Amino acid sequence: MLWESIAFGPIKSRRLGNSLGINLLPVVKKICSFDCIYCECGWTLESNMDTSQLYSLQEVNEAIETKLIQCKNDQIPIDSITFSGNGEPTMHPQFLEIIDHLLLLRTKYYPNAIITCLSNSTQLYREDVREALSKIENPILKLDAATEEMYQIINNPLQNCSVDQIIDWLKLFKGNFILQTLFFSGDLGGVPFDNSKEPHLSKWIDAVQLLQPKQVMLYSLDRETPAQNLNKISVEEMELIAQKVRAMGIPTSVF
Ligand code: SF4
Repeated sequence: MLWESIAFGPIKSRRLGNSLGINLLPVVKKICSFDCIYCECGWTLESNMDTSQLYSLQEVNEAIETKLIQCKNDQIPIDSITFSGNGEPTMHPQFLEIIDHLLLLRTKYYPNAIITCLSNSTQLYREDVREALSKIENPILKLDAATEEMYQIINNPLQNCSVDQIIDWLKLFKGNFILQTLFFSGDLGGVPFDNSKEPHLSKWIDAVQLLQPKQVMLYSLDRETPAQNLNKISVEEMELIAQKVRAMGIPTSVF
């Protein structure tokens, strides 16, 4: 599934309310530094790391402003302006400039809306990306596994970075972010895996303890996945994991 415009919705979101989506990636293909086996946009091709032909800053700013004016005129409420879309939004080379301009547009049209970005955390080595994410209310950063083995299975990184590097970059936020994890099990080519089981769960718990995010969001599978033979974790199992995180004093939601 690919979004067909830069600004889309608003769509009803359980966690974000009326959420106006922003897609900084092309409408014809996904661009991402991961190739997650559960990605609702489908598989990432090697060539889909190429960010040379993304929308210009001007195109993005104009599309967002046009949409905000339209929503305002139609009296449509917006609770969150949310970067998600066809891949990894922070791969846009002018992500910081886009955030800076959006902060002005938000003040002008929807001063009460929060700004959210769903990110896979791989661009956090860039100072400009960390600066941009520190300016918004809701940086929701992915960490599906804390062992290299499970991270490689689930996220299939196309960019050369280890899960330990990602955890080191997340540390730089000093807890000022929301951590998002998708728990599920499956069978890849006859090899079973489950990121909610040991030793992977303990390592993930250790990482949460170390990072102390202001909130944790836990998910299971919801939509069709490119890899076959993936299974949901039960709500009861998800709740047991959530309880372990809440015991650290970290607010945790299960979706
Ligand atoms: S990080 Fe997000 S967009 Fe990229 S492959 Fe994973 S689920 Fe898809």
